Amino acid sequence: MSILVTGGTGYIGSHTVVELLNENKEVIIIDNLCNSSKDVLEKIEKITGKKCKFYEADIRDEKALEKIFNENKIESVIHFAGLKGVGESVEIPLEYYDNNVYGTIKLLEAMKKFGCKKIVFSSSATVYGDPGTPKYVEEMGRGKASSPYGATKAVIEEMLENLYASDKEWTISILRYFNPIGAHESGLIGENPNGIPNNLMPYIQKVAAGELKELSVFGNDYDTKDGTGVRDYIHVVDLAIGHVKALEKLTKPGVYIHNLGTGCGYSVLDIVNTFERVNNVKVNYKIAPRRPGDLAMYYADPTKAKKELGWEAKRGIEEMCRDSWNFVKNK
Ligand code: NAD
Ligand code: UDP
Repeated sequence: MSILVTGGTGYIGSHTVVELLNENKEVIIIDNLCNSSKDVLEKIEKITGKKCKFYEADIRDEKALEKIFNENKIESVIHFAGLKGVGESVEIPLEYYDNNVYGTIKLLEAMKKFGCKKIVFSSSATVYGDPGTPKYVEEMGRGKASSPYGATKAVIEEMLENLYASDKEWTISILRYFNPIGAHESGLIGENPNGIPNNLMPYIQKVAAGELKELSVFGNDYDTKDGTGVRDYIHVVDLAIGHVKALEKLTKPGVYIHNLGTGCGYSVLDIVNTFERVNNVKVNYKIAPRRPGDLAMYYADPTKAKKELGWEAKRGIEEMCRDSWNFVKNK
């Protein structure tokens, strides 16, 4: 029996595939390579010494999905495939709904048709909206989405809940990620966005590498310890292990929602200073105006994941910063 990983050559998907292979699971990847490259497959093999089956296809392609389900015995799906740019989603919302929501519908239809009713879904802390308190607990429920991207995650969560209500054979794990950064310790896989990055760590990496002049720190007048925005950064390998735990522990049908975060908040300047210190490199920055839509501070309450999945993040920000830079140096 195999695990189908959609978006498995992407940033979080590739790290999860490594952890699954390390656990001797059989893995099949479907990815249309719209935001990743086939080279990742060799890197995964180099790290684990194991191969996985790869289908270059779109999850919206019904025929391709049927072929995959026909050719393999798939027991569960980990669903990463989707578009993830918050700013981009404002520019091209229809593409976001098409790829993320419609893509998920096609995937769920194929799963249903082939009697595969176990899915782990990549959600995001963004579904909490702005609950007015920085510590996010699963019971708070979903808030108002601040972007079309966030709205697609909230809609998919709701759709999965509706699906379970209609058919109690489904086992559905919704994992709400906080801010994944870092890379595999081998330096072989990591996050490699094209063009000018939107997120903090890829931007810092490019400044440190001399590809971009300086980081703009978006606001230093928030009500936080040093005035800059605070987030819960989580090492991508810890995040990947969270998926393996979710598959392993959630054996009874139901809908399970878990935060995957460390429970610690770090400011933009904490990250810049730690990156400089552990890597002995300079990260030039300037203070810039606040970025519209940003919240001052939020972080996870990771208690539920610890209790129910037996999972907790083990890697701290020093490791996150070190591994992020190691990946860049290795390229
Ligand atoms: P990524 O872009 O690196 O990976 C997504 C992968 O999906 C890519 O390899 C891409 O080629 C593929 N893909 C996209 N649309 C597809 C389609 N229609 N059919 C087949 N393949 C398709 O992104 P990531 O950072 O690894 O994120 C994975 C998931 O986690 C996404 O759903 C994202 O929304 C979610 N997430 C990410 C973050 C983050 O900060 N990285 C935070 C919260 C949630
Ligand atoms: N940030 C910043 N400069 C950048 C990118 C991000 O100061 O070039 C800040 C941002 O305001 C937030 C934090 O870094 O406080 C994390 O931002 P990111 O976009 O990585 O994640 P998100 O805010 O979407 O969780």
